[in-house]
Amino acid sequence: MNIHVLKFGGTSMNDHHTWKKVLEIISKYEYPVVIVSATARTTRQLIEAAQIAAKGDLDKALVIGESIKLRHLGILHRFLKDNPHPKRPLIEESCEHKLDQKIALLFKLLTYTHKAAELTPAMSDAIASIGEQISSYLLAQCGLAVNQLTQFIDAKKIIKTDSEYGKANPNLALINQKSGSIETILDSGFTPIIGGFYGEAPDGTTTTLGFEGSDYSASLIGGALHAKAIEIWTDVSGVYTSDPRFIEDAKPIPELSYYDATEMAYFGAKVLHPSTLKPAQERNIPVFVKNMFEPEEPGTKIIRDSDHSRKVLAMSFKKEMVLLTVSAYETVMGYSFLTKVFAALEKFRLPVDAVNTTEASVTIALSNSEKLNQLSKELVEVGTVTFEEQKGLISLIGCTISNLDELSSQVFNALDSQDVDMITFTKEKRILSFVVDEEQLIQSAQKIHSGIF
Ligand code: ASP
Ligand code: MG
Repeated sequence: MNIHVLKFGGTSMNDHHTWKKVLEIISKYEYPVVIVSATARTTRQLIEAAQIAAKGDLDKALVIGESIKLRHLGILHRFLKDNPHPKRPLIEESCEHKLDQKIALLFKLLTYTHKAAELTPAMSDAIASIGEQISSYLLAQCGLAVNQLTQFIDAKKIIKTDSEYGKANPNLALINQKSGSIETILDSGFTPIIGGFYGEAPDGTTTTLGFEGSDYSASLIGGALHAKAIEIWTDVSGVYTSDPRFIEDAKPIPELSYYDATEMAYFGAKVLHPSTLKPAQERNIPVFVKNMFEPEEPGTKIIRDSDHSRKVLAMSFKKEMVLLTVSAYETVMGYSFLTKVFAALEKFRLPVDAVNTTEASVTIALSNSEKLNQLSKELVEVGTVTFEEQKGLISLIGCTISNLDELSSQVFNALDSQDVDMITFTKEKRILSFVVDEEQLIQSAQKIHSGIF
């Protein structure tokens, strides 16, 4: 079976026009399996409502719930008006019934959260998943209105996970087994439409796969079905060399290896959920990132072996960094010094972005955090501590070591006379990083990008 798993994100699910486009794209495939996110903004609003309820303002939380309902009704009615169908009353009735049911569930969960005055991880997942539960059902019904044989499947029937709410781990064996029902539906000529992001714990409660988890759902299902390809349809034309909102000449990367794409997701390329590629990679299924508003554009293709001859893949940048320098007291020199510094970072769970060390001192680039005060108190035991705030970090990802000299001189040329506080290269990760003043961050990033890409 020539199965394509197609995933559509929040912006693709924004309104009745984009729903129509999604259905048009699907109709071009022989055996499509469709994974959808919640409509744009919905997940964020659901979580916001849950937090507000926990803090005591139930009325305000319910108003947010009501607005989610109205927005979906609006999309549905406009879709059905634009696409008249004899079965409209039936479709409308079934959608409104489902929507009422899900919003009633939301209100119940919000009321419970309000009473408990606390938002538990399990409750948070039950609430956050409602966006996908609604969007997948309504889209499947709208497919019928344009004479496509679409069929809703509740993701809880397929995506079986453990009970780690908020970031649940999939049970691959069970997912493989349950995915058989998707093939049955495809066999009978229907296109399954499944909500991304959520799944089911062994006890039947709802779990989520983490922020932006719909990509992961798509990849899990693609892996289970041995799909021909997994396509992530979004609102940009692939994975970019840098964030196009800030870097004007950022451009899509035509081809990446799984390894490089995973690396980029960790380093802030917002297009993919970091765990997404694993199930695809295990079964060697190509992943495409495509723009649903420019479907003719090639986008980015992610495969096992990609061209490693280029000198660098992409550039990311980060604001609100702090440079921490610890200089060892003579009494704690040697091995124990660095061990103690990193133990303290681990204690406060502060991830390190870049490090420079000498025997007697270490400089570390960290994201700014409230915990820095506590960290500093701990570190005065080992050495003198200084912090430089308002720094920014620019990283070149996927650098080849043979091009390092050329790359660093390109960076220094681009930065001209501006100060660079720190420069590091990690061979294993192939990342060249620079710390600069935050004020100059975007400007410097733009200059470096146009010098290199
Ligand atoms: N709706 C979820 C989120 O915003 C999952 C997703 O869209 O991937 O995180
Ligand atoms: Mg996304």
